[in-house]
Amino acid sequence: MTKVALVTGGTRGIGESISRKLKDDGLTVIANYASNDEKANAFKEETGIDVIKWDVSDYESCSEQIKIIFEKFQKIDILVNNAGITRDAPLHKMTVENWNKVIDVNLNSIFNMTSLIINKMRENTFGRIIHISSVNGQKGQFGQTNYAATKSALIGFSKSLALESATKNITSNVVCPGYINTEMVAAIREDILKTIVDSIPAKRLGDSDEIADLVSYLVSDKASYINGATLSINGGLWMD
Ligand code: NDP
Repeated sequence: MTKVALVTGGTRGIGESISRKLKDDGLTVIANYASNDEKANAFKEETGIDVIKWDVSDYESCSEQIKIIFEKFQKIDILVNNAGITRDAPLHKMTVENWNKVIDVNLNSIFNMTSLIINKMRENTFGRIIHISSVNGQKGQFGQTNYAATKSALIGFSKSLALESATKNITSNVVCPGYINTEMVAAIREDILKTIVDSIPAKRLGDSDEIADLVSYLVSDKASYINGATLSINGGLWMD
C-alpha cells in the first residue's frame, strides 16, 4: 500500500517543494496550511495534492483533522513538521504576544502533531518524522530569541523521540536549512539580506527543492539507519 505523508505548511515555500517531491516519489501526500486559501487552492489545482486548512498550534484542531485523515487513509507513515513563522525583534523590544505566537506555532505544534500521530506509527511499527528547524536554531540570530529558541528545541525533542521510537522502526530527524529562497526570506530587508548572502560561503540562497531532496532521502527506506540526526543544509554558513 502507498505510504501516506502529511506535510504541515505544505502549500508554500519549503513545504510546497517537499509536498511536490514526495508526490513525485510516489507517496500519497496531504498538505496542511493556515490561511492562504488562494495559494493552497492553486497548489491543489496544479498538483492534485489534497490540502487541509487548520492551525497546527491549536491542539483540538490538530486532533480533529488527524482523526479525519486516519478515517480516510487509516495511517500516516510520514510526518513532516515544517510549518513555522517568524516575529522578529530584539528581546528588549519583544512583546509577550510575539514570544508566545512563535512558541505556539513553531514548538507547541510539534507536540500537537507528533503526539497525536505517534501511537498509530507505533502500532504500525513504521514511521518517518522530520522536523524542519533552522541554522538560526543552531547558531542564534540577532532579533530571533523566540524563533531560535523554538528551532533549537526541536533538536532536543527529536533526539528524545528517536530514543523512544527506534525499536518501533520509527525515525525522528531534524533538517536545519540555511537561508532559502521563500517568501519568509523575501520579507527580510534588502540590505540585510545582501549582508547575509555575502556571509554564505556558497554566495547564494538555497533552493527549496534542495531541502525537499534531503527530506525525500530521509523518509525513504534507504535512510532507515539515520535516527536522531541533525542535518545542516546551508551552503557552508554554519558547520555543525
Ligand atoms: P513560508 O512562510 O514560505 O511558508 C510557511 C508555510 O507554513 C505556509 O504554508 C503557511 O500556511 C504555513 N503555516 C504557517 N503557520 C501555520 C500554522 N499556524 N498552521 C498551519 N500552517 C501554518 O515559510 P518557509 O517555507 O520559508 O519555511 C518553512 C519552514 O522552514 C519553517 O519552519 C521555517 O522556520 C523553516 N526555515 C525556513 C528558512 C528559509 O530561509 N525560508 C530557513 C530555515 C528554516 P499559509 O500559506 O496558509 O500561510
